[in-house]
Amino acid sequence: MAACIFCKIIKGDIPSFKLFENDKVFAFLDIQPLSKGHALVIPKYHGAKLTDIPDDSLVDILHVLKKIAVATGAENYNVLQNNGRLAHQEVDHVHFHLIPKPNEKEGLGIGWPAQKLEMDELKKLFEEVKAKM
Ligand code: AMP
Ligand code: ZN
Repeated sequence: MAACIFCKIIKGDIPSFKLFENDKVFAFLDIQPLSKGHALVIPKYHGAKLTDIPDDSLVDILHVLKKIAVATGAENYNVLQNNGRLAHQEVDHVHFHLIPKPNEKEGLGIGWPAQKLEMDELKKLFEEVKAKM
């Protein structure tokens, strides 16, 4: 997609610190890292959300995330993939963050507002989702 910043990076029209590339996947350092080694792995196929990407463009992504995790030497790290503005997505080309967590201050900070659901509510949700899979 012509206006997309990550498509431009894939094409080489915008420079990046490229870590990996094959026919389906591209990986590079995040320009505003949460920690040293923070990297992004993206499908070459343009789509805003995970659900927009064909399965065959996603299959290599976990391998590349693992490769980068090993290369950073990080003992603690998060994999993050945001979809939609409410979910903190800023760039509308699917990207997976690999974020080393070297200490409490650097890396990803996570709010985890866990809800308490009754068993019957959980069962109802389960049945609704399962029926659509
Ligand atoms: P998200 O909030 O999940 O959409 O994250 C977008 C990420 O893309 C942020 O961490 C940005 O720092 C990163 N980013 C934006 N532009 C560039 C760029 N030109 N090169 C590398 N990373 C970028
Ligand atoms: Zn794109």
